[in-house]
Amino acid sequence: MNYKKTHIHWFRNDLRLHDQPFLQKLDECDTLVCVYVLNPKEVQYVQWDNQALGFRKQGLNRLQFLRETLYDLQRNLRKRGNDLLVRVGNPAEIIEDLVTKNQVSLSFELGYATEEKEEQRNVIKALNIEDVDAYEGGFLIHPTSLPFPFEKFPNGFSSFRNKIEKKRDNTTFATLPVPETLPKPPQVFSQIKMSTRTLDTRAAFKFKGGETQGLERLNYYLFESKELLNYKVKRNGSVGIDYSGKFSAWLANGSLSPNQIMKEIRRFENEVKANDGTYWMWFELLWRDFFRYIGKKNGDKLFFISGLNGKSLRFRQKLDVFSNWCSGNTTSAFVNAHLKELNHTGFMSNRGRQNVASFLFHDLGIDWRYGAAWFEHTLVDYDVYSNYGNWLYIVGVGNDPKGGRKFDVDWQQERYDPEREHEKVWLRN
Ligand code: FAD
Repeated sequence: MNYKKTHIHWFRNDLRLHDQPFLQKLDECDTLVCVYVLNPKEVQYVQWDNQALGFRKQGLNRLQFLRETLYDLQRNLRKRGNDLLVRVGNPAEIIEDLVTKNQVSLSFELGYATEEKEEQRNVIKALNIEDVDAYEGGFLIHPTSLPFPFEKFPNGFSSFRNKIEKKRDNTTFATLPVPETLPKPPQVFSQIKMSTRTLDTRAAFKFKGGETQGLERLNYYLFESKELLNYKVKRNGSVGIDYSGKFSAWLANGSLSPNQIMKEIRRFENEVKANDGTYWMWFELLWRDFFRYIGKKNGDKLFFISGLNGKSLRFRQKLDVFSNWCSGNTTSAFVNAHLKELNHTGFMSNRGRQNVASFLFHDLGIDWRYGAAWFEHTLVDYDVYSNYGNWLYIVGVGNDPKGGRKFDVDWQQERYDPEREHEKVWLRN
């Protein structure tokens, strides 16, 4: 669709200028309003089945990362003659207030989970305009490029991967260009204030929000350090900064596009080397896409206690046991060390996440949604589809063909932290 003279882009989890679809359609437009709305629901207290869990949805680490991201986005928009308006409130009301003329169009990236869908429905209803470009984004393999109809999206990851695998060789992972100049904003908006956060000195990796930082990390991990080559060997680690890519936080709020990562991986393979490390990063990015598609397909079911397959589960809703797990006071040092790391830094390795999730549900018998909510609160890279999809998988009410994963945490510690390096950092410092 063609955008009108005045165009509004509602930024959601697409907080970047690179590989950004709406920026390609501004030819007819002379005023561009870029707006981000922080919905107060994001910071409200978490409840499940009327149980108040006592913490907010969005914790301080992610909030800080978001603030840094918005600051960077505003700076990048200003460099091109535009600006970013940031508001707190109900998106429908705020965007409705911005539409002062008839000749207005609106664009935004679609979300698929319950609250995201409700939010976008309300915005469309409130505006009552025809020119709405609500598009699919955030995928590596775009829905229109799936080699099968979306209705036939498979339930198992292997089946999805097998169908997609050929795409790796046949697809040119090109990204959309960033225009050098942008239409002007209706006025200059307030400068986003930056706050600094005192990071735990034990945090190996210091996540900093913004597409500038995301692109820097990508370049470092691929071309500067060439750590990508070691990814397959190191990816089960938990200590240091380079055992994995650390792209997740930027991917989660859209300040890094998966397409950009894949384009750079292909370039790296052509210019430096291709090996099982470069392949495995693609494999993991496909997991992310898989869960995003599972969210698109199943919507509200992500949050059902019986998940996608309706299996009935037995669990306890003992808040004292749950609270000890949250603070890292369980009987397992391996689990405790990982939870302490999460609480102090907002990050935990994939190995850690699998173990602490399994321990909460399979060993302590606690409602898995409490654990997922704790991850939502604490993780700097919280992503609704990856988080709930992985929890469902481990519990056995999602897409695991084996019906769930129970990890023996003592065995896992012997295997993945035999020298107790990770434990020393988080429990003995
Ligand atoms: P890398 O190992 O470098 O992987 C590269 C990218 O591949 C990641 O950034 C991520 O986008 C994707 N990826 C890797 N593993 C997975 C996976 N299992 N599922 C989906 N995508 C994956 N990831 C999130 O981004 N947000 C979440 O909220 C989240 N919650 C999780 C909850 C549980 C219970 C578990 C077991 C995993 C969860 N993950 C989540 C997936 C994974 O742990 C993180 O993506 C990964 O640890 C992030 O670190 P990285 O960027 O260094 O990953």
